[in-house]
Amino acid sequence: MSFQGHIAEAPSAGAGTQAPGARAAGASPHLFNHRTVENYRRSLADGVDRVAARIAGTERPFSGISPARLAPEIDGIDLEQPLNDPTAALDELEEVYLRDAVYFHHPRYLAHLNCPVLIPALLGEAVLTAVNSSLDTWDQSAGGTLIERRLIDWTAERIGLGQDADGIFTSGGTQSNFQALLLARDEACALAAKNSPTPLSRHDILPRLRILTSEASHFSVQKSAKLLGLGQDAVIAVGTGPERRMRPAALAREIERCHADDLVIMAVVATAGTTDFGSIDPLPKIADLCEWAGLWLHVDAAYGCGLLVSPTRRHLLDGIERADSVTVDYHKSFFQPVSSSAVLVRDRAVLRHATYYADYLNPARMAEQRIPNQVDKSIQTTRRFDALKLWLTLRIMGADAVGALFDEVIDRAAGAWELLTDDPRFEVVTKSQLSTVVFRYLPPEGPARDLADGANLFAREALAASGEAVVAGTKVDGHHYLKFTLLNPETSLDDIAHVLDLLAEHAGRYVNERLAPELRHRAG
Ligand SMILES: *Cc1c(COP(=O)(O)O)cnc(C)c1O
Repeated sequence: MSFQGHIAEAPSAGAGTQAPGARAAGASPHLFNHRTVENYRRSLADGVDRVAARIAGTERPFSGISPARLAPEIDGIDLEQPLNDPTAALDELEEVYLRDAVYFHHPRYLAHLNCPVLIPALLGEAVLTAVNSSLDTWDQSAGGTLIERRLIDWTAERIGLGQDADGIFTSGGTQSNFQALLLARDEACALAAKNSPTPLSRHDILPRLRILTSEASHFSVQKSAKLLGLGQDAVIAVGTGPERRMRPAALAREIERCHADDLVIMAVVATAGTTDFGSIDPLPKIADLCEWAGLWLHVDAAYGCGLLVSPTRRHLLDGIERADSVTVDYHKSFFQPVSSSAVLVRDRAVLRHATYYADYLNPARMAEQRIPNQVDKSIQTTRRFDALKLWLTLRIMGADAVGALFDEVIDRAAGAWELLTDDPRFEVVTKSQLSTVVFRYLPPEGPARDLADGANLFAREALAASGEAVVAGTKVDGHHYLKFTLLNPETSLDDIAHVLDLLAEHAGRYVNERLAPELRHRAG
């Protein structure tokens, strides 16, 4: 067949001059459009079926596989050889991912701040990814932009930030904290320059900037300081009390010390729910100090934000309404899939520090015309419509139902804490205001006691390798501890008791194996 004839034969042939390659790509069954919706339906339904079967059948949160065993399987796949068959690709995916994934919905997943997710949010995820709106500009999102704005307003109202509040969805708490501190930095620089009798450049001010935050706050504060070009000593750790909450007296002392040293405090970062201890800094007292000293208050509520919808515990966040900026992670205590987070500010004008007008995208005249381009407030450009997940969650089940789930895990953590305080095998640290429990296996007095660190490390790893449960670890006063982070209302006290037995068994074995030779030696 001649080249011309080949083109003429195709049903949707256009002008005879069109290159054959261009037409073939346009007709791809994989490109999502009006011609391929059946393929879309079938393909996604197959994927959903695979996940559903996994979720229905998982007996353990993890298979316990090691990177050394899994890596060769993934490395062995030839990416230059497509399978050309979605079913075969899903079969392969079972082997390299689904079989050995870590399942957060499982009641014995007790490790990090990962939540089981809500079905209304999964529905939102399926919709947002297919429509694929990008929330940088109105002309790429339309209603998506307005829905995001409603949810920002809704969150700001729940916090109590007032009429001038605004904010933006972000990829996570780390980015939210970073953006809040970027705004605080630029406000501090502007203020310092304004108040200085002699001209001050940013270069002069940056090394003098300080952030005050408790020693239990999230590491993203340090990381942000580094990314923001601050000095090595920019983050000052304020002391905490026995409950791991920032001590206002210690904060007052650090403020005075900074003033005496001619340093510029660009922000105080309070944490509403520390990652390890679930402790909430005394927000009203911290807000008083910030008001008195004229300081920017950022509240990192990445973990504690679920209290905003709690039917019984909203008061634990009292004082948060006095913040200049707030971080919330819906993908933690709102049971949303990753990613879903936001940064909120009391005064929308400060968002100008993140504004840049690009001729091709969001020229300044659009802002004058009040065209809602969210990129004007974001440090991202192309950006997911993550807000849709929260929207459908609120529209389908409502805020109270979400808050009730968070309440339940907080109750369960209190129950776990009681179990642990009554159990002589373990020592438990402070009682969390949220849903973490930090504890350790305590070997009996005597030579065994010196093995505590090793025993706790070993128990955690052995438990994960068995796949029976996954727990986290952290350090307290230089010693290795274990940590439960409860975010699953389906985790029962029986599950927790069972995991404690497993941990004690692994830790006990570790101690016995190491102690036995010594005892034998003594006996000989
Ligand atoms: C999880 C967490 C963060 C970081 O949030 P990501 O969503 O993981 O980036 C920040 N602060 C606190 C207190 C957190 O618990």
